[in-house]
Amino acid sequence: MLRSRAVIVWLSSHVLRLMCRYARELSPLENGGFLLGWRSGEDRIVVDLRGPGPRALHGRHRFIPDHAWQVSEINRAFEASRGDLDYLGDWHSHPDGIAEMSELDSATLLQIARRVSAPLMVIVAVRETEWHPQCWKGDLIRPLLRRRLVATPQEIKIFEPPARWPSQSAA
Ligand SMILES: [Zn+2]
Repeated sequence: MLRSRAVIVWLSSHVLRLMCRYARELSPLENGGFLLGWRSGEDRIVVDLRGPGPRALHGRHRFIPDHAWQVSEINRAFEASRGDLDYLGDWHSHPDGIAEMSELDSATLLQIARRVSAPLMVIVAVRETEWHPQCWKGDLIRPLLRRRLVATPQEIKIFEPPARWPSQSAA
């Protein structure tokens, strides 16, 4: 059985800015996408992100990414960075201000966790006029038959990326 361990999620200021911009653009509808970066031990370093993709669905309480587009974008980023940038998880906005995982969010994270080990889900929620990120990590545990998801909140730290790091793309 997998033990869920807390990690630090390092979010580059560039990623946070983009995320808030995407979130503001579609508010009061949800917006989202996925996170790119690498793992350092158990910690995650998030240095880039992508938006929703052309066929994503945006609702007031749901966001469904354009999966086919995501897969090709993930591969493209991986190749363009010569393997530096990997998929780390998804992100989306909660324009209603509630930074909690909904049932749909947990179901989405479970689906991702079946393909990727311990993925992240970042939610940016608006409080007054400021958007704040919160992060969960999804671990699969396997009691007997059915695999079950445990989503635990993770600490986020914002950092300024060195200028020469890969992919400061303006998405
Ligand atoms: Zn949500």
